[in-house]
Amino acid sequence: MKIKFFIKRTLIFIFILVTFLTYIHGYNEPWYKNAIFYEVFVRSFADSDGDRVGDLNGLIDKLDYFKNLNITALWLMPIFPSVSYHGYDVTDYYDIHPGYGTMEDFENLIRKAHEKNIKIILDLVVNHTSSRHPWFVSSASSYNSPYRDYYIWSTEKPEKNSNLWYKKPTGYYYALFWSEMPDLNFDNPKVREEVKKIAKFWIEKGVDGFRLDAAKHIYDDDSKNIQWWKEFYSYLKSIKPDVYLVGEVWDNEYKIAEYYKGLPSNFNFPLSDKIMNSVANQKDLGIIEFLEFERELFGENNTDFADAIFLRNHDQVRVRTFFGGSIDKSILAGSIYLTLPGIPFIYYGEEIGMEGSKPDEYIREPFKWTDDMKSKYQTYWIIPRHNLPGNGIAVDTEEKDPNSIYNYYKKLLEIRVKCRALSNGKIERIKTQDRSILAYKLELEDEKIMVVHNLNRIENTFNFNNEIKEKDILYIRNAKTERNKIILGPYSTVIVKIP
Ligand code: CA
Repeated sequence: MKIKFFIKRTLIFIFILVTFLTYIHGYNEPWYKNAIFYEVFVRSFADSDGDRVGDLNGLIDKLDYFKNLNITALWLMPIFPSVSYHGYDVTDYYDIHPGYGTMEDFENLIRKAHEKNIKIILDLVVNHTSSRHPWFVSSASSYNSPYRDYYIWSTEKPEKNSNLWYKKPTGYYYALFWSEMPDLNFDNPKVREEVKKIAKFWIEKGVDGFRLDAAKHIYDDDSKNIQWWKEFYSYLKSIKPDVYLVGEVWDNEYKIAEYYKGLPSNFNFPLSDKIMNSVANQKDLGIIEFLEFERELFGENNTDFADAIFLRNHDQVRVRTFFGGSIDKSILAGSIYLTLPGIPFIYYGEEIGMEGSKPDEYIREPFKWTDDMKSKYQTYWIIPRHNLPGNGIAVDTEEKDPNSIYNYYKKLLEIRVKCRALSNGKIERIKTQDRSILAYKLELEDEKIMVVHNLNRIENTFNFNNEIKEKDILYIRNAKTERNKIILGPYSTVIVKIP
């Protein structure tokens, strides 16, 4: 009797559990699948205390700026103590850069961002540390240091990649990027545990995930890298099931696809080039076919892949500068990637048409709140070369101008939030007579959206089999509709709901 009762109870329990899990799976997609990210260089963004260096309190004061734009998540470039202005060589993984604020400021930022439904991910730079990190200082000081094997040492200068090995009195150490950024030794289980401990510390502070710097360089071997990220991801999921990780695998689509075996999300570098080059060349170089091909490739390794799409980041020439200063082309490129499936990442300043080119500092210039650059939040840690006072490119001037990049980005993001087909739909190219028109359909459940762009500066016509009703037009720029025809002006875009 007792055993029968036990079996019955167990079966009922399993039934309830399965029902519950099906429910969770079907209705509770991870938050990041619908996120709209914004990459922030804290130093350049908003200053709260008058020293002209951007800081966490400045970011807190400006949370409504993101809210108004429909940004739902922030990627903060490194905020840990560091020797360099950019922060990619960390000296302490458990503290905040003193120029950016305190741990208390950070806790406030997380709390206030979450109150406004804005998630925060941190840039995690663990391929290497700063040469001034106490681990390395100790490691280099003696063969017997407990941190000796945290880094990669050789008594002789190796012949292979000899330019990547640097001399210290105790031997040669390996540093892929720069002599002052020695690579951590991930073959040492203690290093792997340290990295997990660092991530756990910040997750307990409330962060929602990490952007993984140099994700393909951890080892000189992709399969070992992937294995490590898999281990790291499953560990983090065990403490925070909805944690988001996005890898910087700056490589082709085949290489990125491999990393989906270990990571839920990776930046889509080749797609960004395809979009940028199509807009620059005024003709579609096969953006949608390429994206469909990539999605099939990624899906083979991870059915839940979350494609991180973007135009440019902090390491690349800025969008508007790439297009020789053209605002029309900048808006067009924005209207392409912001209507494609995936998770968009907007690089700060892209939405107001800031310019910038190498050296890197000048891709990361102070964000312009007002055109006169006299806002109390204005940063000024470097004298800008590209974004000068009075050029009209600033938040205050663009908010007022209905035809500004800012207002088109805002409109595109409003539509993206409303129409989930844009972020999660199935995409299909609509064939056109020539490649100066880029047209596609996105479909999710009952929602169908059609997007048409004219990549050329010459007017063009797009014929559709149904009549286009005024009320179904979600977005229109430089174009007009006539029954089933769209007259496309230079660099125009139309987004419509279709029956
Ligand atoms: Ca400051």
